[in-house]
Amino acid sequence: MPLPARAEVVVVGAGLAGLSVATRLVAAGRDVHVLEAGAHTGGRLATERVDGFVVDRGFQVFNTGYPRAADLDLAALDLGYFTPGAVVRAEGRAHRVVDPRRRPSAALDTLRAPLGPLPRKLAIAAYSARAGLAPVPRLLSAPETSAAEHLTRAGVGATALERFFGPFLAGVLLEDRLETSSRYLDLLWRSFARGATGLPARGIQAIGEQLAARVGTERLHHRVRVAEVSGTAVTSDAGVVRADAVVVATDPDTAAALVPAVEASALRQVTTHYHVLPASPWSDPLIVLGTPGGQLVNSVVLTDAQPAYGPDGRALVASSSLAPTREADVRDEVARLHDVAAADLQHLTTVTVTGAQPAALPPVRLRRPVDLGGGLFVCGDHRDTPSIQGAMASGRRTAAAVLRTLRRDVPGRGADRGAA
Ligand SMILES: Cc1cc2nc3c(=O)[nH]c(=O)nc-3n(C[C@H](O)[C@H](O)[C@H](O)COP(=O)(O)OP(=O)(O)OC[C@H]3O[C@@H](n4cnc5c(N)ncnc54)[C@H](O)[C@@H]3O)c2cc1C
Repeated sequence: MPLPARAEVVVVGAGLAGLSVATRLVAAGRDVHVLEAGAHTGGRLATERVDGFVVDRGFQVFNTGYPRAADLDLAALDLGYFTPGAVVRAEGRAHRVVDPRRRPSAALDTLRAPLGPLPRKLAIAAYSARAGLAPVPRLLSAPETSAAEHLTRAGVGATALERFFGPFLAGVLLEDRLETSSRYLDLLWRSFARGATGLPARGIQAIGEQLAARVGTERLHHRVRVAEVSGTAVTSDAGVVRADAVVVATDPDTAAALVPAVEASALRQVTTHYHVLPASPWSDPLIVLGTPGGQLVNSVVLTDAQPAYGPDGRALVASSSLAPTREADVRDEVARLHDVAAADLQHLTTVTVTGAQPAALPPVRLRRPVDLGGGLFVCGDHRDTPSIQGAMASGRRTAAAVLRTLRRDVPGRGADRGAA
């Protein structure tokens, strides 16, 4: 599809943030075009097929507890869900730690799990209840510290920190020092306490594709890399497009390069190894947590939650490390976590994502400005929280800001600016 010479709004980047802006502007009847450097829609939500298996570009899940889940047709995504909790390997055994409010039948397992004495377990339950039930303004008004300090003050105890929170959160925050802001931790834990985590039947990329379908293929231009932006035009390798408003919805590094007012972010990385097993060793779709001293933060049988990830009933296993690891170096660890023979693991592929998500260190700045003035806007997970929720929330805020600006423009002014 050729680029138009001008559009009311140009969005740079077809990740969830850019698509969230574009869907809203299209719904408001605005003339929007999205310029995307890559070949696929959805940015960091990317999926490919490998030997018939659905392979996401790094293990990630969708959480129905995210407020912006309201923007999606969840039924059409056909999500397959994980059981809320995890398997903790300790003292030579696998222990199920499952939210007893959601799975009362697993309450006894959770009570017996080696996460410390009863008062510590009650502190874990109290922390989860507070994060799930307290109003967001109250969570955000609490003194900010690191996640580790926050959980320690909540009384969860060193054993639960080491065996459960440490590896569980390392897999989500992509850092294992728990240096992330306690405010972001509270928001994240709130989503876990209120929602369920799942995988779309056609892979995580399906989330972006659902939004893209609302934008329309004639407005989405793939393989177009933008090199320069202003509030009135973008310059790309496919030509210049003039506009009344320009939204930079790229990854944080590119946003910082394109727009001097945007600060670069420290980025987290992750390596995910995909293996195939003849069958799942588990009866429940649960994430298995890495153990102290190991290289993996977690390992999970994806097909237990979402059978559509496999073509023929075999099990697809995703195992993630924060540092880049070689498959040969983690194979035995994967086998130990699932209690299977290493020889049964067939290596499918390995993915390393270097710019997986921006760090959210204290003091975390939620809701960073998206309207930079002069018709230029910026959005993305680096403006809110490093997550699907953050990307979509920033897109929502940005669409509202763009619409305000367009409405403020007197008739004809947009065309004048576009021709400048
Ligand atoms: C491996 C991994 C695991 C994750 N796990 C989770 C999880 O479990 N739960 C969760 O909520 N979040 C998770 N995340 C984070 C989440 O995926 C991101 O926060 C979110 O997708 C970011 O969306 P975005 O739109 O802000 O940015 P992006 O998805 O990065 O979109 C930016 C788009 O801009 C395009 N672009 C860049 N430069 C240019 C240019 N010059 N011209 C044109 N286009 C350009 C890019 O190609 C891209 O499509 C994970 C991320 C990764 C990578």
